Amino acid sequence: MALTVSHRCQNIAPSVTLQIDARAKEMRAAGLDVIGFGVGEPDFPTPEHICDAAKEALALGLTRYTPAAGTKELRKAICKKLLRDNDMTYSYGDILVSSGAKHTLFTILQGIIDPGDEVLIPTPCWVSYPEMVRMAGGVPIFVPADESTNFIPTNKDIASRVTRRTKAIIITSPSNPNGSVWDQDQLQFVADLAVSHPFYVISDEIYEKLIYDGRKHLSIAQLGEQIKAQTFIVNGMSKAYAMTGWRIGYVAGPRHEISAMASFQSQATSNANTIAQYAAMKALEGDQTCVDEMVAEFQKRRDLMVERINQIPNLSCRKPQGAFYIMMNIKKVLGMSYNGRLLESSMDFAELLLAEKQVAVVPGAAFEAEGFCRLSYAVSMEQIEEGVSRIAEFMRQLS
Ligand code: PMP
Ligand code: GLU
Repeated sequence: MALTVSHRCQNIAPSVTLQIDARAKEMRAAGLDVIGFGVGEPDFPTPEHICDAAKEALALGLTRYTPAAGTKELRKAICKKLLRDNDMTYSYGDILVSSGAKHTLFTILQGIIDPGDEVLIPTPCWVSYPEMVRMAGGVPIFVPADESTNFIPTNKDIASRVTRRTKAIIITSPSNPNGSVWDQDQLQFVADLAVSHPFYVISDEIYEKLIYDGRKHLSIAQLGEQIKAQTFIVNGMSKAYAMTGWRIGYVAGPRHEISAMASFQSQATSNANTIAQYAAMKALEGDQTCVDEMVAEFQKRRDLMVERINQIPNLSCRKPQGAFYIMMNIKKVLGMSYNGRLLESSMDFAELLLAEKQVAVVPGAAFEAEGFCRLSYAVSMEQIEEGVSRIAEFMRQLS
């Protein structure tokens, strides 16, 4: 038998967001002054009261295995959060806690997808969705949208891609990579379609709290008992509480499916980190002022970045309603050259910008959105000023 990597593994593309972040960090370690608009990671420290809860868990010796699905206390705290913030009733048996929302999404797809099943993915989409669907043996079916509809696909485009094999749709609101927030009417259309077909809805709500201009988050599962019964609400601690490294994500959903996923997880990874589970409980139950403060700061950063990008000739972006990303339209740049090097794709743009001006951005191609680059504004106002000035300088040197 040949010693080879499996076909499954050979065919999986690495996460471009994490790759770019690793490259930017390497350059920084080598002494270069890199501005990181690449990875989507809050730059704030995890709030102190959350860190204290972890220290307390350690001091109390809470360092052992928990139930695979997470501690009963944390799952109950998640139910309270869902009632408080989203007006939805769940009990702890409907919740599965995993090692980050990425792991949650992976487990859900393993839990509901059989070979050949189709999963609708509105694009631009987050890097990991298509690969995770493929890892489960499923087929990603892209539903494209562009700036003209605020990057949200039309009802017609969604409906026309539904087939006998459609098993689920992934909705991300607020969205990564474009920051768009779906309206109630748009969610209602998907809910009606999902109920009548029927297919599952995976509602990735990890950016729920990062929503601006006084808008309120709405979950598709809030639109009625029927749609709630076939929706998986995905959320986690990474974005709202600046806890990316703690690796806690969770799903609330139909009991039978959640319990099958918990069995799957019990064989794959067991429980998420015990100490981090105690910290997550504190985050959800404790003072929420820290979230409001971070959101206010993100909104200022968004405004600055959007204004500055739109001042640069041949570049533009829409003002997003949530998350911490903008999609910078680079379509006018493709075909231009930098020092004799032709820019043919978003990858060329991102690579040259990093090499020449030490500014990390993610090529739109990673999100099924050629002609764009994604910029994260989870960095300081000073870094936004400096990074965007470097982009402007880069643009002046194009011919
Ligand atoms: N969903 C989306 C849309 C994301 O942007 C991220 C960010 N990494 C995740 C899920 C996963 O987050 P985490 O695994 O850090 O909880
Ligand atoms: N969600 C973040 C991003 O899109 C983190 C990176 C990742 O998990 O891929 O940049």
